[in-house]
Amino acid sequence: MNIHEYQGKAVLKQYGVNVPNGIVAFSVEEAVQAAEKLGTKIVVVKAQIHAGGRGKAGGVKVAKSLDEVRTYAGEILGKILVTHQTGPEGKEVKRLLIEEGCDIKKEYYLGVVVDRGTGSVVVMASEEGGMDIEEVAAHSPEKIIKEIVDPAIGLQAFQARKLAYAINIPNEMINKAVKLILSVYTAFVEKDCSILEINPMVVTGGGDVMALDAKLNFDSNALYRRKDIVELRDLEEEDAKEIEASKYDLSYIALDGNIGCMVNGAGLAMATMDIINHYGGEPANFLDVGGGATTEKVTEAFKIILSDAKVKGIFINIFGGIMRCDVIANGVVEAAKQVGLDRPLVVRLEGTNVVLGKKIINESGLNIITADSMADGAQKIVDEVKKIS
Ligand code: GDP
Ligand code: MN
Repeated sequence: MNIHEYQGKAVLKQYGVNVPNGIVAFSVEEAVQAAEKLGTKIVVVKAQIHAGGRGKAGGVKVAKSLDEVRTYAGEILGKILVTHQTGPEGKEVKRLLIEEGCDIKKEYYLGVVVDRGTGSVVVMASEEGGMDIEEVAAHSPEKIIKEIVDPAIGLQAFQARKLAYAINIPNEMINKAVKLILSVYTAFVEKDCSILEINPMVVTGGGDVMALDAKLNFDSNALYRRKDIVELRDLEEEDAKEIEASKYDLSYIALDGNIGCMVNGAGLAMATMDIINHYGGEPANFLDVGGGATTEKVTEAFKIILSDAKVKGIFINIFGGIMRCDVIANGVVEAAKQVGLDRPLVVRLEGTNVVLGKKIINESGLNIITADSMADGAQKIVDEVKKIS
């Protein structure tokens, strides 16, 4: 789960991380009031969306007067911000962070992630922070310094100090940087983050070390014990179909293609996506209805797939092990009747009660194409979709 920058900064502040004072605003008026309240000569108007790269896309503006705050807030609010992380469709800005200006002397990068290679938390830092960190990672990875954390004892002060020296934090600010790095690590662990990124972390003209941006991602498997974090969820930033799917405990991920998939089991779902690709098609989603799906669950899954205008055809690929083919068949027929089947549908069933399942489909009177194998089904749906697009 993702949260906004201003929320991330509030979480970090609880851990003693130095962040600029800021106020969230939902309208131009609120933005101006926030700037008045902050009372600093310079304020920064920052678009709040669940994506980075805002600076380069015009979503971060430095204002030197209340008039400028009004102008920038008006420009950014409601704007569709297209950054390298939003995809071409962009994201509409509905919230702003109005923050006191910061006298940046130098920008650094600080990131904490779970590293699969070492099976540990890794803290990364670089002196080449700011808006081009992706370039640094791609072309001069040696400029990103890493410390692997022993999970039994956590990040040690000497490790934080090593990082601070390695990225050339000025000597008189090393202790402040060490404190910030240790606090960020503690926040990462205690809030069950999967990523915590501060880019930029800055040293200021006044001799402070601060987090000027904050990206926090949380492990969704831990949300049950992080009620305070769940409260920060902004559903408007998430895919509506994914939210709907989560209500029914369906594993659903929206993708860019046009073939909707309904599969049971994550492994089979992956294989189905591969085989669609193999025959020249593009899946519109990953959808695992799980082992114990009911007719109702299948119906909801089907509705979610059909609600996606990008979907030009549907491929249902079920192996009935725990899941019975007749349950799936009933769900499909029920859903198709409820929502109306206006696109080609290929169904491949195999396993428990397959004969009954096929019978239900054949006698439904619906225009459903049956397939004998996974390859056969994938080819059929790819052909059907090609015919109409
Ligand atoms: P991102 O592009 O989405 O990662 O947004 P950031 O929050 O990192 O902001 C982008 C850039 O705007 C930063 O790298 C800074 O250079 C600049 N910026 C952000 N806040 C301030 C500020 O308070 N003062 C000044 N002068 N620049 C800022
Ligand atoms: Mn940033």
